[in-house]
Amino acid sequence: MLLIPDLGLDMSINTENQFEYAPFDIINYFHSELLKLYNDYDTVSEPLKGKDRRLRLILSNSKKKKKEIKNKLLSYPKAIKEVEIKRKLVGDETVDHIDSNFENDTIDNLQILSRSENARKDAIKVIRKSVKCSFCGKEFIPTRGQTRKLGVFCSRVCSGKYGKLLQYNKIEPAKKVKIIKVYYK
Ligand SMILES: [Zn+2]
Repeated sequence: MLLIPDLGLDMSINTENQFEYAPFDIINYFHSELLKLYNDYDTVSEPLKGKDRRLRLILSNSKKKKKEIKNKLLSYPKAIKEVEIKRKLVGDETVDHIDSNFENDTIDNLQILSRSENARKDAIKVIRKSVKCSFCGKEFIPTRGQTRKLGVFCSRVCSGKYGKLLQYNKIEPAKKVKIIKVYYK
């Protein structure tokens, strides 16, 4: 597989593998296919890296017959996917980087997901570190609801027993327990 690192584009852009494009021809092919989808424009820029390190293309129209035609900024991985499937993305389709590395725009790393599927994939998962039950001392992983209370309890039984003892002043009020959260993607 021939790879053009700057473009993140490889030979499989031609999915049937019927042609062997020289790199220059791949770029030309890519641009002409892209302009078929965006036919208000006639010029495609090189991929430009934004501050967010994502690549984008600028589509422009050299003739600008219509005054209203402004340059268009297009996500580079989206453009690659659209050329591959020979249509624009529709509805809530988004391009997802399979390996979650958005700087890896090779065609094999791109897939179409709905916005909700993509959001689910990118959601940050929270892991809470285990804490000791304020009543019985057993270690457990606190759930979400337990983060705001004074004292944490491994079970309803423990919190019930604690509550009763506290009611009759037979136990010291529990100290606030610091819950440590670890975030990862
Ligand atoms: Zn307990």
